[in-house]
Amino acid sequence: MSALGRALAVERRARYIDFRGKRTTFSQFMRQTADRLCKRFPFDSRWSTIRGLYTQYPNLDVASRISIVRRTEELLFVPEKEKPTTVEPVVAPESGSRATPGKSPADKQTCGSQALEPTVHQAVPANAKQEPTLVLAAKKIAPARPPQDPADVEIKFIKGVGPKMSEIFQRLGIFTALDLIKHYPRHHLDFQNRLLIRELKPGQEVTVYGTIKSVGAFQSKRGNISIVSIVISDGTGSVAVSRFIGGKSNKYLLDRFKSQFPKGAQVMASGVVERDRYTSRLQLKNAELEILSELGDASEELGSLHTNRLVPVYPLTEGLGLRYLRSVIHNALEACGEAIPEHLPEAVRLQNNLIGLREALWGIHFPDDVEIKDAARKRLVFDELFSLQLQLAHRRYQNSLNESALKFELKEGGFIDNFRKELPFKLTGAQERVFKEIARDLASSKPMHRLVQGDVGSGKTVVAAMAALIAIQDGYQAAVMAPTEILAEQHFRQFQKWLTPLGLSCGLFLGKQGTKERKLMQQALLSGQVSVAIGTHALIQDDVEFAKLGLIIIDEQHRFGVKQRAKLKAKGYNPELLTMTATPIPRTLALTVHGDLDVSEIDELPPGRKPIQTKAMTPADKRQIQGFIASQVKLGRQAYIVFPLIEESESLSAKAATAEFEELRTNVFPEMKLGLMHGKLKPQEKESVMDSFRKGEFQILVCTTVIEVGVDVPNASVMVIENADRFGLSQLHQLRGRVGRGAEQSYCYLVANANSETARARLEIMEKTNDGFVIAEKDLELRGPGEFLGTRQSGMPDLLLADLIHDATILEQARKSAIEIIKSDPDLSDHKSLKVLIKDQTGESAQLIQSG
Ligand code: ADP
Ligand code: MG
Repeated sequence: MSALGRALAVERRARYIDFRGKRTTFSQFMRQTADRLCKRFPFDSRWSTIRGLYTQYPNLDVASRISIVRRTEELLFVPEKEKPTTVEPVVAPESGSRATPGKSPADKQTCGSQALEPTVHQAVPANAKQEPTLVLAAKKIAPARPPQDPADVEIKFIKGVGPKMSEIFQRLGIFTALDLIKHYPRHHLDFQNRLLIRELKPGQEVTVYGTIKSVGAFQSKRGNISIVSIVISDGTGSVAVSRFIGGKSNKYLLDRFKSQFPKGAQVMASGVVERDRYTSRLQLKNAELEILSELGDASEELGSLHTNRLVPVYPLTEGLGLRYLRSVIHNALEACGEAIPEHLPEAVRLQNNLIGLREALWGIHFPDDVEIKDAARKRLVFDELFSLQLQLAHRRYQNSLNESALKFELKEGGFIDNFRKELPFKLTGAQERVFKEIARDLASSKPMHRLVQGDVGSGKTVVAAMAALIAIQDGYQAAVMAPTEILAEQHFRQFQKWLTPLGLSCGLFLGKQGTKERKLMQQALLSGQVSVAIGTHALIQDDVEFAKLGLIIIDEQHRFGVKQRAKLKAKGYNPELLTMTATPIPRTLALTVHGDLDVSEIDELPPGRKPIQTKAMTPADKRQIQGFIASQVKLGRQAYIVFPLIEESESLSAKAATAEFEELRTNVFPEMKLGLMHGKLKPQEKESVMDSFRKGEFQILVCTTVIEVGVDVPNASVMVIENADRFGLSQLHQLRGRVGRGAEQSYCYLVANANSETARARLEIMEKTNDGFVIAEKDLELRGPGEFLGTRQSGMPDLLLADLIHDATILEQARKSAIEIIKSDPDLSDHKSLKVLIKDQTGESAQLIQSG
């Protein structure tokens, strides 16, 4: 009755929603329950009436649905004799006694199946009699001592944790009650809406719960394979989970499985339902089995922590049972849950629709329903991201205080105007926009910390050059740092071409330079004769000094460490900082990793570029690819053939590339000129190879990944990447970006034996899109943030729950709130509870997340 009442109340509050799925669930529940009651009370005609009312319910208009709900309420509650007071049958008795943090307005599923449950489950309905075992709220008995902040309670004082267990916990890094409470569940098992074995149908993908009835093993008729069969029953039926094991069946094998899956243990099994061909019994083939508890009879525990609700499942370690963890976490929450301080200001909570921290911590472990679980997760994810964003916002604020920034004015009729006149093309809209953003930063009294993200070939160099000209106009110098010599030299040539006509000179700084050359350059820089210093790490050597360094530009900024950037910065008096990357990182990640940088995006390619046609091929297609290269060369184009790094050893890959080069030159393309490029060449050799390729002196460049970044030869139109499955997506995109830089149609062949599904999926993404941002998102999704960012940028803060891909919306909210708070109260003097969050800013991790 009460469950029906609640379902009705929920439906009312949901305003008879039009969402079809939900309506169906509701009406199905009403029908089924009425049906059951019909059988139980055949003389009470209400049930058959109600059953009838809901047959058409999902297909009716709102008005009819409203009247059906009203009618049902009348039938159910108005003539009631036992309880005449039930006017608003909203709250069922048991929900009052439960810890129902932030009681969320709806869950039809929940109310539904609780009523369904009892008959199925020889057990007790969740009603008032059960209360003693349902003490989840711990509200009835006032604690003897006032609860303590769980951060101050040592683990050994938690009920159920003795000295031995506390040692195990400490090994896991769990020292306080708070640590224990933050040991979040991996997922929850929904015992309320469980699927019954009796209801299984072949073909369904299901998860069922039950107890192990038997374990058997037998030999397959053919071959050397044994089949282990574990029979699970849930009281409504049984299903066999079979596993195929290599090797002959024997007693030893059977014993092993019997001890691994003890009879009577509660398990969860997920898999696809099948009907056995011979016995025609239902089975789950190769199902995942998870032992939930080794304790025997499940029925004795119904209504407790472990069953008949959403049950938390924790990441386990040796020595810690699931049940045990559940109880001690519950105890910890009971003992100190009340004392968990709420640090988020009310306004932030309201604005972002967040439940309280206390409720969230209860709800993440022991939610009453899915809505509460989701609300709890949202709150805790918000906290993680908010504290990070607050630190970053605070740091941005401090940056703006500590540094007295330079101010460069963009003047009419200066270098910029002349530069534009000389430029053979017009800037794209995106370039103009980003340039404006940079100019605005440079003109303001706040220091610039800007990152320009732009896909390969989007034209970042021009924008960088124009930024440099603003500084030079004001009498300052600029420094351009690039990660490789090839790239530094390319920038140098480009800048020279643009700046010489303006009467400005550039200097090149590379590690390979001789002392004499170096000395000359240094002098020219120190005297101010050189306006732009371009180079690799060589720029940060102590003996490189500037007369008046005003702007630092770092290309492929993720290739440099924080220290290197800082060192270059120290060569001027608070120079402005512009960083660039062609390996865009998705916005969510950028907000986390570069949260203290402003980000500009050049999201448009220069006109006339044709998207590169990309195709995944297998080594068997070799001839076809070679034929294609030959035909392109005949048209006057050039091609790259790239070999991957072999086992992180540049010399091995150099060897492989060399061997291939010889083979291609003598046997495949005897009538063409080929060049070879790899990391083991001397710098001068590299330079001359690149130079002749640029001049078109040979048509095919066989190379390793040294070619990756920034190389710009517009006439090249074919890129062949061998063993493409060994590259990350972003790297493939970078490599592919070496072609498609001119007006001609370009092509990219990704050669791989992509056997695994992920490998194929990755190459497919490359075939589908040329958009670096999309690729970066996918890359992040496939590899996860840690690997995606690599070691250099592994400043990833510990995010226990937050998922940068799926929680993007929460991230934006957290960022917005953090910025607002810092804006209104920069020192957080009115937000004492938040102050702890920004305290720890001197440590290693703070250094790491500082990318400026
Ligand atoms: P990236 O962003 O990859 O560093 P570059 O700055 O090297 O790209 O530019 C790629 C090529 O596009 C260069 O040859 C450059 O001269 C050219 N380019 C840049 N901007 C434009 C534009 N607005 N119109 C036409 N070509 C452009
Ligand atoms: Mg570039």
